[in-house]
Amino acid sequence: MTAAAQISSSSRNPKVVIIGAGMTGMLMTIKLREAGITDITILEKKETLGGTWRENTYPGLACDVPAHMYTYSFEPNPNWSHRFALGPEIQKYFERVGNKYGVTKDINFNEAVTSSIYDQGKWTVSTSKGNTYIADFVINSTGILHHPAKPDIKGIDSFKGAIFHTAEWDHSVDLKGKKVGIIGTGSTAAQVIPEVAKVAGRFSIFQRTPQWILPLGNKRFSEKFKQKLRDNPNRLRRLRSLYEWSLQNLMTKAVTGHQPQRALFSAVCKLNLRLSIKDKALREKLRPDYAVGCKRIIVNKTFYNAVQRDNVDLVTDGIVEITPKGIKTSDGKEHELDALILSTGFKPFNFMRPMEVRGKDGLHINDAWDKKIRTYRSLFIPKFPNSFLMLGPNTPIGNYSVIAMSEIQCQYIIKIINRWKQSEFDAIDVKDEAVNRFSDYMRKGMANTVWVGGCQSWYLDGDGDPVLWPYTWKQWVTEMAEPAMEDFVTQHFPTEVKNINAA
Ligand code: NAP
Repeated sequence: MTAAAQISSSSRNPKVVIIGAGMTGMLMTIKLREAGITDITILEKKETLGGTWRENTYPGLACDVPAHMYTYSFEPNPNWSHRFALGPEIQKYFERVGNKYGVTKDINFNEAVTSSIYDQGKWTVSTSKGNTYIADFVINSTGILHHPAKPDIKGIDSFKGAIFHTAEWDHSVDLKGKKVGIIGTGSTAAQVIPEVAKVAGRFSIFQRTPQWILPLGNKRFSEKFKQKLRDNPNRLRRLRSLYEWSLQNLMTKAVTGHQPQRALFSAVCKLNLRLSIKDKALREKLRPDYAVGCKRIIVNKTFYNAVQRDNVDLVTDGIVEITPKGIKTSDGKEHELDALILSTGFKPFNFMRPMEVRGKDGLHINDAWDKKIRTYRSLFIPKFPNSFLMLGPNTPIGNYSVIAMSEIQCQYIIKIINRWKQSEFDAIDVKDEAVNRFSDYMRKGMANTVWVGGCQSWYLDGDGDPVLWPYTWKQWVTEMAEPAMEDFVTQHFPTEVKNINAA
């Protein structure tokens, strides 16, 4: 028997806990199983899978990444109804995939993780149901944009009408013919506003900062087109490749310092504003004073039309306070409202929190990240061995597909776990010097990006540093291809310790 065969025959099967059954949690489950890792516990706080696509149900909800690219690479879908898939359709896609791959039946639903505590190669994960799971690895598939940020505006609790955040849409409120207000004009608002404008009696949009908009419409696909994709998987693959090429070589490069692409996007967005908005004064109110891409580029062809409807007002005077009747602005006007929609974004740096997460020597995640959120290759948090953070900071989030990103991260994680399987180590942590090197590398790249252009956005941490990937997609894929083992510190534990921990 060869040495390799001896190693593989003695290979261990790790216990893995996956927290969250959204897009990344499902993906991890499918791919770990394919890699022969079968002892998996999936914990999901809610009653269904789908993550962000389950949570968000606002009118107009769609994905602004082309649908044929916003799918798992191993589960293409020729049946998307639109170029940018609608929210409910995406949720159905994930439900279908969950059933097809046998993930759904194994999810522990309605079981929220309360704490996750590390000690000598093992994680103890406790849940809202009073259960405790011991794991060799924990994968935090908890998503990024899932904690709604509600504005801290004076008087907000005094408002007597209906008030809700877009991520907690209150479908019991009928907006038809009502005086409706919305705070915020980000990616979500750009999708909500055209829908609400169709039904509201009077609709006031409270804009603090205008946004650049890329005019790509949401084309509906004909049955004939879908049939062609069903009949010819190569055609479907080519379509996906075309979108991938466009995003990698045009949009991603435009924001990471490539001048021709930057100039192109800038020209298109500026022309869009000029051609779409007839009234000069309104046009100036909608003109951002920062570079295209500094905030996430909005992909939309209906927002500008909605803003010009007779029943819609764009309010750019600052909000002074919210009153029982509506919103008071800095010009002294009180805008009376029956309902107020908060399209004010999310707290992007919570990640897996408020779970209590403790790494080596009882280190709490809040203390580890007290001064700054630090990771290595987005996935590793120093002093939190054997755990991974999906879609962590410095993942190339921008306008690219988070599914494609997760697939790359998934391969990387499996390579690490495979080494554990072969008993190369019991615990793996990242070296501090590797984290520092990674942070320096990120900082250096940021200088060329459009995100440091002086605008405020959720891409920036508390110090004003962007937490995206500042290089090309290709570079990220190349660097994520193989873990650099010299960047890690590994440990073995005596069998007695392992047995005590596993008991
Ligand atoms: P966002 O981009 O963070 O926008 C929040 C909006 O609320 C901004 O216009 C912000 O103004 C405004 N705002 C926040 N606090 C305010 C206050 N106190 N007073 C007045 N205005 C206030 O949030 P989002 O639109 O929900 O989008 C977040 C992210 O979700 C997107 O960038 C995207 O990654 C994701 N998303 C994706 C899709 C998709 O199609 N794939 C759709 C929706 C969302 P300022 O600009 O002045 O801060």
